[in-house]
Amino acid sequence: MWLGINFFSMEKQQRTEISSLGEFGLIKHLTEHFELKNPSSIKGVGDDAAILDYKDKQTLVTTDLLLEGIHFDLTYVPLMHLGYKSAIVNFSDIYAMNGMPKQITVSLGVSKRFSVEDIETLYAGIKLACDRYGVDLVGGDTSASMTGLTISITCLGEGEKGKIVCRDGAKNTDLICVSGDLGAAYMGLLLLEREKKVFASDNAIQPDFAGKEYIIERQLKPESRKEIIESLERIKVVPTSMMDISDGLSSELLHICKQSKLGCRVYEDRIPIDYQTALMAEEFNMNLTTVALNGGEDYELLFTVPLEMNDVFQNLPGIKVIGHTTDESLGCCLITRDGQEISLKAQGWNSLEK
Ligand code: ADP
Ligand code: MG
Repeated sequence: MWLGINFFSMEKQQRTEISSLGEFGLIKHLTEHFELKNPSSIKGVGDDAAILDYKDKQTLVTTDLLLEGIHFDLTYVPLMHLGYKSAIVNFSDIYAMNGMPKQITVSLGVSKRFSVEDIETLYAGIKLACDRYGVDLVGGDTSASMTGLTISITCLGEGEKGKIVCRDGAKNTDLICVSGDLGAAYMGLLLLEREKKVFASDNAIQPDFAGKEYIIERQLKPESRKEIIESLERIKVVPTSMMDISDGLSSELLHICKQSKLGCRVYEDRIPIDYQTALMAEEFNMNLTTVALNGGEDYELLFTVPLEMNDVFQNLPGIKVIGHTTDESLGCCLITRDGQEISLKAQGWNSLEK
């Protein structure tokens, strides 16, 4: 299972200097337990480049850059979770195109602060994600760094010609759907940040996350929604547009509407929110709808389907119909519980902090 969260646990481990292995020794050590699972992975780590063969499928490519201090804080993010999350955020981008992730490359900048054991732990998380989602590690790059840890992951995936879904394909009167629930990862982040401050003022206080496991998990160990892509495939539905929710529902809805040249109406009472998210928002004295609309890092899927599919999508487990698209001239609005129309803004989760 997952590690408990232990602030500053990094300092307690056994420590082998990376310099004692050297760059090649480290790469071998990190990658030797990864076996190639996919027929499209012809050659992985060990040469100047990997060889892939996608036959008649189209290739999807996405990349993410994560910088210590900007994108993650190692005082409360365990390295294994960081490895896992770095991988799945990339898988999520491939699923959002209605594709299947197949390979990743992992590039690292590592300062002297990190031991071989630390990087091994990071790779254990990457391996867990690769095994769960059927993805091969086929290469990367490794460099010393002056300033902490940098991780860049590139993911390649396959999509079927004609079934790849972009952000610009939504049509007027389409239904707008989301998977899972929203805002939990952001509440998890605020909780971790709060506990970090408490710990900084008194090192004897380890945080108690009882009853808050779900929001912590959503922040530290998110999943990407492979099973939603599989269930769409099973019912033979190709959404008209789709993206993953990494910057908040509001911002992503505006992207789809802008690129598809449409407006939208989404209904406050239809936005899926977990109970723990609601409790935490109350504790932080924050408006729950604002949290669900603008909290980031949910990695749920947002997509549109034709109105005729209403009966099917009203009853699909794990999916909620939250509204519909409109003519562009009507703008993008939230309909509140008491029937008011409020313009959607791309607030993003950073600006939510008080
Ligand atoms: P080059 O000098 O051509 O960049 P490297 O010595 O950096 O080659 O890499 C050797 C092999 O190890 C290549 O297959 C590369 O993709 C792989 N590799 C390097 N760093 C990593 C890493 N951090 N994770 C996974 N594979 C890596
Ligand atoms: Mg290299």
